[in-house]
Amino acid sequence: MSRVYNFSAGPAVLPEEVLKEAADEMMDYRGCGMSVMEMSHRSKMFETIINEAEADLRDLMGIPDNYRVLFLQGGASQQFAMVPMNLMKNRVGDYIITGQWAKKAYQEAQLYGKANAVASSADKTFSYIPDVSDLPISEDADYVYICENNTIYGTKYKTLPNTKGKTLVADISSCFLSEPVDVEKYGLLFGGAQKNVGPAGVVIAIIREDLITEDVLPGTPTMLRYKTHADAASLYNTPPAYGIYICGKVFKWLKNRGGLAAMKEYNEKKANLLYDFLDNSKMFRGTVEKKDRSLMNVPFVTGDADLDALFVKEAKAAGLENLKGHRSVGGMRASIYNAMPMEGVETLVAFMKDFEARNGK
Ligand code: PLP
Repeated sequence: MSRVYNFSAGPAVLPEEVLKEAADEMMDYRGCGMSVMEMSHRSKMFETIINEAEADLRDLMGIPDNYRVLFLQGGASQQFAMVPMNLMKNRVGDYIITGQWAKKAYQEAQLYGKANAVASSADKTFSYIPDVSDLPISEDADYVYICENNTIYGTKYKTLPNTKGKTLVADISSCFLSEPVDVEKYGLLFGGAQKNVGPAGVVIAIIREDLITEDVLPGTPTMLRYKTHADAASLYNTPPAYGIYICGKVFKWLKNRGGLAAMKEYNEKKANLLYDFLDNSKMFRGTVEKKDRSLMNVPFVTGDADLDALFVKEAKAAGLENLKGHRSVGGMRASIYNAMPMEGVETLVAFMKDFEARNGK
């Protein structure tokens, strides 16, 4: 078996311990003679799996009792519609546009009501987070929406916006469980699992109970109402059962590693190693304003498209995969989620040094 260092933005690297355990249990989960993939989602065995996953996630994130945890499907993109469908009582949502995912959510919300762009960093190719201390929040806004970590551009909010009392909704897909979070500051957090949490196909929404109501936009499908899933404890229909099982294993792995504070420390060490190299390199440079740098997604360029392409090609040959930047921005991007070990980043930095020495002027 040979594993590469996988810097993909998602689906992304998962902890080897989790994959090995899942492989061991693949044919016969804990003596029941079948795989979790083959198991009824109504069985006692699966009930234990989903309940434990939720309990561990609550523990990790310190989720208060008045918040519900929902295991959903449809990708994070489905939330772009579910948010306005369920929360737009006045049909007004304020959006901060910090990249493509925030923009997509904003555009989707326009299908249902008035979506206002109250700030944007489009003027500098989304390379920074705008000042969010005093935004022109709409009087009648049902919520303020952010994408907390911008996977493509590599920015992250270091302080949450002042929403002037309005409900904060956050897409946390690419910073999920990467550091401690104060859940009470949000009305709703959601994320696709396929970056830091598990396989594609699972979306986790954490939502304050008072936001779960029957008062949704007319025509909202049953499956797209938070209440449907909250009332049925995420078992209204067949859930992404195998994915939830893997998420549960990742939660236990995180707890064993000391939880989110320990994870943050480790993630900072990894990211600092790469950012320090970028700051001192004569060939490579990071593309994000320092104060807004993400711990998870690190975009960088040489400034020469041919050299970028050569770098990506040679890196791949050296076992460093998926370093090509998003197709909309080019250059390179190293996604260094929780499961990327320090050795992976050390190997990348050593490779970059060597590449610079061989190709520098
Ligand atoms: N939001 C963010 C921050 C993302 O990075 C992505 C995907 O990469 C999405 C939303 C879309 O997720 P999905 O493909 O699960 O719909």
